[in-house]
Formats: sequence, structure tokens, C-alpha cells
Amino acid sequence: MAESSILLATSNPHKLDEVRAVLEPLGYRVLSLDDVPGDHEEPVEDADTFEGNARLKAVGYAQSTGLQCLADDSGLEVDALDGAPGVHSARYSGVAGDRATRDAANNRKLLEALAGVPDDRRTARFVCCMCLADPDGTIRVETRGTFEGIVTDRPAGANGFGYDPLLYLPDRDCTSAELSPEEKNARSHRGEACRRLAERLG
Ligand code: IMP
Repeated sequence: MAESSILLATSNPHKLDEVRAVLEPLGYRVLSLDDVPGDHEEPVEDADTFEGNARLKAVGYAQSTGLQCLADDSGLEVDALDGAPGVHSARYSGVAGDRATRDAANNRKLLEALAGVPDDRRTARFVCCMCLADPDGTIRVETRGTFEGIVTDRPAGANGFGYDPLLYLPDRDCTSAELSPEEKNARSHRGEACRRLAERLG
């Protein structure tokens, strides 16, 4: 694999699109697990921080594929819930099913948890931690990005994924799911973490 090719270890097509949109114009070719032959066991994400889970995924997939591997661990921290759902964002509701079903159940559970909480106490942020690891398990770069907003009880928008319809951006008077992909990447946690990664790689 050329030095400028990076395997992004994710099964989330939205993350892949968002990372490609930032890194490809900077000269990186972003491969997905589908581009790599063979079955690669998914590492267990049992760390209690985003950084720890990103490391587990990057190192696990780098070792199993033999390629330099980038992993993203991300989620939503809500201040009124002491940082929950945090590292449990993807499986907050406990509901199984396809991505759309899980996202809808997670969003419902979050709105229930915040019922009656006034707007000025609904501050929250998306966090994204990225880790790039070499096939021998060496960690080359780690970065973090954040994306601040307020959890609205009026979900809106159809772009993005996960909690995007709930993160209201007061300066834009819209939610993250109402931003175009380009607008989201320009200010999002994932966009910021990717740009920092590219800076560090030089
Ligand atoms: P991961 O795949 O274990 O990193 O889990 C990420 C989870 O955090 C997703 O399933 C979403 O619930 C949430 N999340 C992370 N980034 C975003 C985003 O950009 N928009 C909306 N939800 C996000």
C-alpha cells in the first residue's frame, strides 16, 4: 500500500464518506475494510475513553490486515447527563437492529433522559478521537476534535447519521443534520480530527 493510502477501519459508511471528503483532497487515498481481502475480526471496544477505543480499533485492524490503519471512535457528551451517552453512544438504547433503527431508538432515549431539562442546560458536544497505527502495533498519530451544540427536543434534518438531528447549532439556527456534508465537515468533530491528523502527517 502506498504511504499515502490509509485504511479506515469502520463499518459505518457515513464515517467513511466524511473522512474521505476531508483527507482525499489533501492527497490521501482512504481505503475501507471492503477493499481489504479476508475476514478481519472486529476488536472489542471495551475501553472507557474515546481515545482508548480508537487505539484498540486502530491497533487491532492494523495487526490483522498488515496495513497502516486509521480508526475513529466518537460519540455525544451531554453535560446534563454527566457526559453520557459518551463512549456508549452507538448502543445507548440497547435496541438491536439496523443502523437506522438503532439511531432512532438512541435519539428517543436521549430525549426521554432530557425531558424537562431547560435549553440552557442542554449543552453537548460530539467528540471524535482518531488513531493511526502501523501493522506492528505502533501508534503513529492520535488526534481529537469536538463539535459543540445544544440537544434540541425538536429533531430536524435528514443528512448525516446518529444524533445529528438532535444537535442544534444556535449560530446557524439549524441542526447538524440540516447542514450539507461540506458544512458539517467544515466544523465537525470528525472534520477537525481529520485535519489535525493530516497536519501531523505533514
Ligand atoms: P462508534 O462507531 O463506536 O465510534 O460510535 C459512534 C456513535 O456516536 C454513532 O453510532 C453515533 O451514535 C454517535 N456519533 C458519532 N459521530 C456522530 C456524528 O457525526 N453525528 C451523529 N452521531 C454521531
